[in-house]
Amino acid sequence: MRRKRAAAALLAAGLLLCASCQAREEAVSAAPVYSLATVFTQEIYAGDAAVLEQTPALLAALDAKYNRFSQTSELSAVNAAAGGAPVTVSEEMLGLLARAQEYAESTGGAFSPTLAPLTSLWDFEEKICPAPAAVEAALPQCDGSVLALDAAAGTAFLSQAGAGLDLGALVKGYAVERILEQYRVAGVTSALVSCGSSIGLVGTKPSGADFLIGVRDPDGGAGDFIATLALSDCLLSTSGDYERQFEADGVRYHHILDPATGWPARSGLRAVTVVGQDGAATDAFSTAAYVLGLTDGAAAVRAAGMEAVFVTEDGSICVTPGLEGKITVTDARYTLRVLSE
Ligand code: ADP
Ligand code: MG
Repeated sequence: MRRKRAAAALLAAGLLLCASCQAREEAVSAAPVYSLATVFTQEIYAGDAAVLEQTPALLAALDAKYNRFSQTSELSAVNAAAGGAPVTVSEEMLGLLARAQEYAESTGGAFSPTLAPLTSLWDFEEKICPAPAAVEAALPQCDGSVLALDAAAGTAFLSQAGAGLDLGALVKGYAVERILEQYRVAGVTSALVSCGSSIGLVGTKPSGADFLIGVRDPDGGAGDFIATLALSDCLLSTSGDYERQFEADGVRYHHILDPATGWPARSGLRAVTVVGQDGAATDAFSTAAYVLGLTDGAAAVRAAGMEAVFVTEDGSICVTPGLEGKITVTDARYTLRVLSE
């Protein structure tokens, strides 16, 4: 069902639109679509809104391929054959896995598509933290070298028994990228799509103004933000330690794991937002930059031609040079720092 409405607050996991800052411009929105364990919302400001109706089928197809928890997904077929034989996969999945391997390489392994043996040890809802021995045992199975792709044969292969793909750190950004592609093909010139941790923007608002995107307060609720970003025509993804986390014995355990140690990354950051033109990359690099920390994370993001916002544990909001002038800090507890080239 589609309906006309004025742009309103769009609450999100990591990113949110600031209700108070949106110009009152009319958008056509669709009912939210639940897929990939999250909710996608869409707003078309200029162009044929019939395209909104293509999104559920696109997301269903992506979920059928990449859902780690569905026995029938392509990803599960590759995981089930770990240590056995290569599995024929769709051209699309092969392409996404190749991109994932490239991101793993360019982040020095801070992003890893083969962390399933580790990620499956955690249950953030039940507050289940793995035993150190289980983490040690899983680490070798997570090594990036376990994944072998054969483009000519059209296969993916996990060479070790027990190894497993988890594309959770890039698939939502990829889905947003694919939705934007559909919008562009349909001639849409102003739109916004969000799944909370990733947002895609087509063009500017019809008035020519940028979209205003909130950077979430890591200590606040889903509607609280500490800064706003004025952006157009791009994708952005956020990884933060306030998502899927719990505290036990005074320690905060969260869902962004350092592939080098197997434990939640402790890099002095609370959150990272990466801004770029490619949703799988912004998503993978937001996770990787969180793991790498401010200095190495910023270097990796810049080397990949993207920009980032880092929210540090000590109350700074640090941006790469390309975001200078696009960010406004709205919370006096935080100070802005523009990183040097
Ligand atoms: P969100 O899921 O909130 O958008 P991320 O994009 O950072 O956050 O993805 C985190 C998810 O990716 C985790 O829940 C886990 O499944 C997986 N993951 C955790 N650490 C890593 C990592 N270092 N590299 C790749 N995937 C990871
Ligand atoms: Mg990510």
